[in-house]
Amino acid sequence: MDMMEKLEILTASAKYDVACTSSGSDRKNQAGGLGNAVSMGICHSFAADGRCISLLKVLMTNGCIYDCAYCVNRKSNQTRRAALSPEELADLTMQFYRRNYIEGLFLSSGIMRSPDYTTEQMIAALERLRNTYHFRGYIHVKAIPGADDVLLSRLGLLADRMSVNIELPSRESLGRLAPDKSKNSILKPMSLIKEKINENRSDLVKYNHAPRFAPAGQSTQMIIGATPDTDYRILTLTEGLYRKYGLKRVFFSAYTPVVEHSLLPALDTKPPLLREHRLYQADWLLRFYGFQAGELLDEAAPNFNPLLDPKCSWAVNHREQFPVEINRAAYEQLLRVPGIGVRSAQRIVKARRAGALDFAALKKLGVVLKRAQFFITCKGKMLEGLKVSEHTLLRSLMSGQELAALEPPQYEQLTLFNDSDLAALPAAGIAAHKRGDWP
Ligand code: SF4
Repeated sequence: MDMMEKLEILTASAKYDVACTSSGSDRKNQAGGLGNAVSMGICHSFAADGRCISLLKVLMTNGCIYDCAYCVNRKSNQTRRAALSPEELADLTMQFYRRNYIEGLFLSSGIMRSPDYTTEQMIAALERLRNTYHFRGYIHVKAIPGADDVLLSRLGLLADRMSVNIELPSRESLGRLAPDKSKNSILKPMSLIKEKINENRSDLVKYNHAPRFAPAGQSTQMIIGATPDTDYRILTLTEGLYRKYGLKRVFFSAYTPVVEHSLLPALDTKPPLLREHRLYQADWLLRFYGFQAGELLDEAAPNFNPLLDPKCSWAVNHREQFPVEINRAAYEQLLRVPGIGVRSAQRIVKARRAGALDFAALKKLGVVLKRAQFFITCKGKMLEGLKVSEHTLLRSLMSGQELAALEPPQYEQLTLFNDSDLAALPAAGIAAHKRGDWP
């Protein structure tokens, strides 16, 4: 098998891993044009310093001794297999790098023979890159669950970022769909990586030239929609992973059916992209807005409303906490107002030191008044002439597409901060979502 064929197989097999931000595109050159984009292998990610970088995203092999039901590379799936030797992988990366196609490598692998053997192969490839070619570019490597601690520690000294995929949100789902893996085999390496990163931080304080262990931290990926796990379950787990293992990111991947299996959604099921999007929005609220999973969802309402983003949904369900007075509210309270983001909350806190703010000043500070107007007062007053009806509120909080999916609005007057009933909204949203009325 020639290298191009191997590359085609191994980059295509890697595309379901979303612990990076984008995948390659396929565009042929035309007369008068310059260059081809080939649909293999180039993805984008963010380095520790926030730069967007292009990576060669590839597996060492798509052969695997495990049989995870959701995976295209599982041993029982009839598919073309290929493998790269450590030398081939390192040489290939250098060729891409020298041609300026990439700035780094995203390396994962199916499990050959055993987790230890696979990790040894990955170490050999990265050692060749780092020590023979003196490659200083970014490397993100997947740790193989079940590999020996010593091997994982060596791997972390060669990579910038490590990740261990949690894959499924519950022990039960893992037991059903990935019988060769256990929760412990996934969490143990996560814990080791966290310890090593912490140890390394103190070493670097004492010894400036101490080798760095995964300086861009660790991340994980979770598949959404392959199992009946609720958004509440997924978000609670996400929160726990950030807190306990100090993860930089939890990536969500809408399940795309690629193999037929009695325990999985049918092959013609559309990937739940809107659900994935809502989870990313909620993840943002956990990381930057001081929300906790239990505030956004609970056992009684365990899934996000497809019509409203999680922050708006929280606000309409907690109207007793509004309106907030812009000139007095704490920074944390400002962050919870729909239409006020981190940057505009910071600007408000700074600007109000110089004098009381009004609605015109808020607009200049970047506040999205279309959303925020229902939840704030300025100098004790709501926006003059503001009409608060269920319809105007929904129009303001939803995007046009989401709104179009609603039933014709009922023009009923409501009192926003008293007993108006928006409780029907989640149900209406879910019903419309089931009908497939929005993306
Ligand atoms: S271990 Fe990884 S590559 Fe192997 S079947 Fe499971 S998910 Fe796929």
